[in-house]
Amino acid sequence: MTTSGSTRRRFMFRALSVAGAAAASAMHVPIALGREIGAQLARISGRIIMRSDPGYGQWWASMSWYLFMPKRYPDLIVRVKSEQDIFHALAYARENKLKVTVRSGGHNPAKAVLRDGGMLLDLSRLRKVEVDAKAGVAWVEPGIHGEKLVALLARQNLDFPAAHTGIVPIGGYIMGGGLGWNMPQRDIACRSILAAEVITADGRKVTASAEQNSDLWWAVRGCGPGFFGVVIRYKLQVYPLYQAMTKSKYLFAIDKLPLVCKTLEKVAAVKKEQLEILAVVGRFYPPDKPPAERDLVCAVSVFAFANSSKEADALMAPWSTSGLPAQSLMKREDRVMDYELLYAGQETDFSSPNRTAVENIWTEDVSTGLQALAKKMLDDPPPSPRCFALSAWGFSNTREDATSCVSTPAPHYLSWYLMAETGDHVSVNRKWMDESVKLLQPVARGRYVNEIDPLHYPQHVADCFSTESWKRLAKLRAQYDPKGLFYSWLGHEGETT
Ligand SMILES: Cc1cc2nc3c(=O)[nH]c(=O)nc-3n(C[C@H](O)[C@H](O)[C@H](O)COP(=O)(O)OP(=O)(O)OC[C@H]3O[C@@H](n4cnc5c(N)ncnc54)[C@H](O)[C@@H]3O)c2cc1C
Repeated sequence: MTTSGSTRRRFMFRALSVAGAAAASAMHVPIALGREIGAQLARISGRIIMRSDPGYGQWWASMSWYLFMPKRYPDLIVRVKSEQDIFHALAYARENKLKVTVRSGGHNPAKAVLRDGGMLLDLSRLRKVEVDAKAGVAWVEPGIHGEKLVALLARQNLDFPAAHTGIVPIGGYIMGGGLGWNMPQRDIACRSILAAEVITADGRKVTASAEQNSDLWWAVRGCGPGFFGVVIRYKLQVYPLYQAMTKSKYLFAIDKLPLVCKTLEKVAAVKKEQLEILAVVGRFYPPDKPPAERDLVCAVSVFAFANSSKEADALMAPWSTSGLPAQSLMKREDRVMDYELLYAGQETDFSSPNRTAVENIWTEDVSTGLQALAKKMLDDPPPSPRCFALSAWGFSNTREDATSCVSTPAPHYLSWYLMAETGDHVSVNRKWMDESVKLLQPVARGRYVNEIDPLHYPQHVADCFSTESWKRLAKLRAQYDPKGLFYSWLGHEGETT
């Protein structure tokens, strides 16, 4: 187990060690821009890093969370310090015909923020939060990490469904939908965006809400890495903080997986919204051995969002009385937690910088999907022992709604993550992912835009939206960004790497 803080330190260490190599390779490709800095750029108070700068390689490597990077190099990286910087940067991009991509934290698994050429507009230092506890809202800048936001809110007994990993910033997470803590009750996080301040391709700052520019508001709520503007602030609905968030965790031998799935199907059918259930198949047992020496098992975590132990017990009852907990290899039950503890318990975060292939589905038949992945992991193990498949049972209680483009077409979520320990693993993972995507196709009802690879599976982007929403997004893109200032979806602009 590790905290997200140690994950970050580990990542920084490894990122710096690959940065030297990255710098060398970046300098060998043609330099698209000279060292001349235009008038608009000269007004920027943040950092400007040109492709020709000696430090470019290190900056480039730090733009993505991941260790295995694509060979895509922006001409220019602008790390903004203020709203004004964004206006100047966009004006420069328009004058110089540079396409723009926007970064909040660089965690997108397809590395969508890295494009070949153009400007990478980095908002990661915009992290202000203003809470109006009386009104139950917070104005939040995109670079704030989920763990920081929930810690700030908790001081006022408030809460927000941030990502399950503390270091994921709000920006890209919520643009793509946001599968957060207590999702079955709080709904997908983007539906808590009450308003957003957007800078459009023509350099206007507009508010998008139910009352103003409602089409843009609809798009902000779930469009993800194909958005055609820069969101500088979100007005978020915040919620009362539960006083007794309670977690129980169990490990089951893999031959018990059919029984685990059968039980979870029954529990998911009757459970209350405040109960969140995650079942993860990976090499977790025994925990004191290195992953390569562990067995493939199923870890079930059950979270009750409650205000007292009594309420937590009642929420847990369908699971705790199912007879299954007694069959576990290991268990830790009924621990009351705050967010710091919840985040610290996410062991799978540790290997997240090594992810090279990530896909997901929404499904009605998560049992079949999870068991198919477990069988493939046993019969044809992926190269890294740290690969895993995550299922979330009865995770979404909503489907389409008229106020957001996001779609959760089935109640259960299933995602799987392939890690590389060395460069050789990347292509093996690719083949494994192709096979598993095919394997899971019969039970796929849709996908989640923040955990797909649009470069390798261009069709998967459209799978994230209803047919009508997909068409409407294309129309809005043409309306708000007629000259194509912002990059469209990765893999939809002719990229091949
Ligand atoms: C360890 C880990 C755990 C995760 N856990 C979860 C989880 O629990 N739930 C979940 O839903 N997801 C989770 N994710 C996925 C996460 O939601 C995505 O990786 C998301 O893209 C991260 O946000 P970001 O700000 O880093 O995005 P970035 O990589 O910075 O941006 C991705 C894309 O979003 C768009 N974008 C970002 N910010 C803006 C902006 N301000 N204005 C306009 N467009 C913008 C851009 O098109 C950009 O290319 C996890 C990822 C990791 C690595």
